[in-house]
Amino acid sequence: MKMASPPDKTTPGRPVLEARNLSVTIATPRGEVKAVRGVNLSVAHGETLGIVGESGSGKSVTSLALMRLMPSNADVTADRLVLGETDLLSVSERRMADLRGQRMAMIFQEPMTALNPVLTIGRQLVETHRRHRRASVAEARAHATDLLDRVGVPRPSERLGSYPHQLSGGLRQRVMIAMALMCDPDLIIADEPTTALDVTIQAQILDLLAEIQAERGLAMIFISHDIGVVARIAHQVQVMYGGQTVERGSVTDVLSRPEHPYTRALLSAVPRRGMRWGRDKLGAATWNGLGEGGGE
Ligand code: ADP
Ligand code: MG
Repeated sequence: MKMASPPDKTTPGRPVLEARNLSVTIATPRGEVKAVRGVNLSVAHGETLGIVGESGSGKSVTSLALMRLMPSNADVTADRLVLGETDLLSVSERRMADLRGQRMAMIFQEPMTALNPVLTIGRQLVETHRRHRRASVAEARAHATDLLDRVGVPRPSERLGSYPHQLSGGLRQRVMIAMALMCDPDLIIADEPTTALDVTIQAQILDLLAEIQAERGLAMIFISHDIGVVARIAHQVQVMYGGQTVERGSVTDVLSRPEHPYTRALLSAVPRRGMRWGRDKLGAATWNGLGEGGGE
């Protein structure tokens, strides 16, 4: 089935990352899976693009393809895939490895899969820094301590000596955020970064990511199956269904006037009577109570 391309309401401006007609086909023993089909996306400095869709809609494959992290049984094609001035389709694997970490970093749902269990977090932060930057161990440690402090890890200099399993899930996710920030990237891709956390910690991590994104003027791609979470943090949103983008635009537009039936279905799980979309004090879209009889 061919779907009409969705209306593009994204703001103009120089994109940090731009993908045009991105497709990923994965070869499996049972045949080909067209995991991503003709996705366009673009995210600018100081902007968070939310990608939302149900499980299996192609969100993670999209993000891994953007980082060129898909395995060799995946065929990734695009008309255009650029990070700033760099054409990601033509750079060598070695250059790509430099770009990951230096210019684009990823935060995953489960930090235990990204952290090395046998190394202290201090060692991992210092090595990440020194792989990409000329810095002494002392400088890298000082930078790591500052960042752990920034992301809300208590007693950061002591924590450098901890192993990942000694930290709670929330603290591990803070360490992952610090790791992603170590080399001051232009772009962060966060794939369901709060899904494994309980609701209170999830809200704290979302607020932290929003603060850091605004403070550093980062471009961020924030992926979630939960449209409420995306609404809280993103400026622009892109809705995926069956490997395609079915709708995109500003969070306020898409959530207040969803055009695609799938977006409406995602949203119907969230609203409560007397609530409407508005902006909170940080400028993020959020559900505001209107009291009795309010809402649209
Ligand atoms: P989401 O992150 O939105 O939950 P994914 O991007 O992980 O979804 O998956 C999109 C589709 O690609 C799904 O149908 C999934 O089964 C398939 N897929 C993902 N990774 C692989 C893989 N390594 N091998 C085969 N199929 C895969
Ligand atoms: Mg996923």
